[in-house]
Amino acid sequence: MKLRIAVVAGDGIGPEIVTEALKVMETVCKRFGHLLSLDRRLAGGCAYDVFGQCLPDETLEACRSADAVLLGAVGGPRWDGLPGAERPERALLGLRAGLGLFCNLRPAKVWKALEGCSPLKETHTASGIDLLVVRELTGGIYFGEHRRSADGRAATDVMAYSAAEVERIARMAFDGAMGRRRKVTSVDKANVLETSRLWREIVDAVAHDYPEVELNHMYVDNAAMQLVRAPAQFDVLLTENMFGDILSDEASQITGSIGMLPSASMRADGFGMYEPIHGSAPDIAGKGVSNPLATILSVAMMLRHTFGLSAEADAVERAVGQALDDGFRTADIAGSGSAVSTAAMGRAVCDRIAR
Ligand code: NAD
Repeated sequence: MKLRIAVVAGDGIGPEIVTEALKVMETVCKRFGHLLSLDRRLAGGCAYDVFGQCLPDETLEACRSADAVLLGAVGGPRWDGLPGAERPERALLGLRAGLGLFCNLRPAKVWKALEGCSPLKETHTASGIDLLVVRELTGGIYFGEHRRSADGRAATDVMAYSAAEVERIARMAFDGAMGRRRKVTSVDKANVLETSRLWREIVDAVAHDYPEVELNHMYVDNAAMQLVRAPAQFDVLLTENMFGDILSDEASQITGSIGMLPSASMRADGFGMYEPIHGSAPDIAGKGVSNPLATILSVAMMLRHTFGLSAEADAVERAVGQALDDGFRTADIAGSGSAVSTAAMGRAVCDRIAR
């Protein structure tokens, strides 16, 4: 198969983690006999320096023409003084909107070898965390009308959802659950919000098409509590935009290792943009100490979700698990133990894929 990928490394540690992820991609392609075609483009602060804008048209066009996008991270103190509309982080919004990516997938998993990293370790609840947040990304209160009264003393944000918007994200969640432990927890606030009552109705209807999947509904405040109390109960967490924004950050924090968490933003046709959940980490950029595993695991998600190559994706995830079991740790997950470099971690994963 030919894999055409637009690569947007971005700023800070972006280029170094993407370098390792691409080495993994090349290793997978070599082992499984695929052809890799890369189109490297600028977005973020580095694009602002060259083009005077953080998301040049040619970058968006290149992403549109590819099968998938691999993104590092954007932003950094150098560009913090820019006005809001020109800031590097705007490139992310431009890419999501410009590419029509309505579905955000955020797996949060505690790897056996890293259970000690979780802040939940004292209550032993970290063991068995392996969940996927499926967040609606282009609707809800973030995209409704935002208004301020004439005297500036009152404000309104509109939360709106159509049945079609709920149905397409619900299907992504149920499809995701079919490849996992077949359990969907749909999060809402149906005791208060009309959008949530519509959400619940549509999710119930979609569930009829997936008789093997167990569905339960949970209020968002309870979901926030349960994520800390007993996170292993969750398989797929289906949420609207704002609830998902908050809960996916909470879910990532309970794993205790931000450098380990991948994500995907998808369309229904399989096109996706894949990126680590962390930012450009300017405090450690250029030192060769960043953890490339979140980006490498994003590549695994790309192989699985855009290209349907599950054996290849499994090979990457297995290699990551083996590298961790063999004791490889970058500084962020090393605790008081010794740490390897970004490149050494990338090499450790590649070696275990090639075996
Ligand atoms: P951050 O995620 O970049 O860093 C938070 C902390 O985690 C830092 O101490 C950093 O060193 C550490 N960290 C992050 N990724 C790591 C990795 N792979 N390996 C080891 N340690 C890692 O968040 P921040 O400091 O709030 O933001 C820095 C910049 O990144 C800002 O300009 C922000 O706007 C931008 N940002 C970009 C994205 C994105 O591109 N998707 C997301 C969040 C923040």
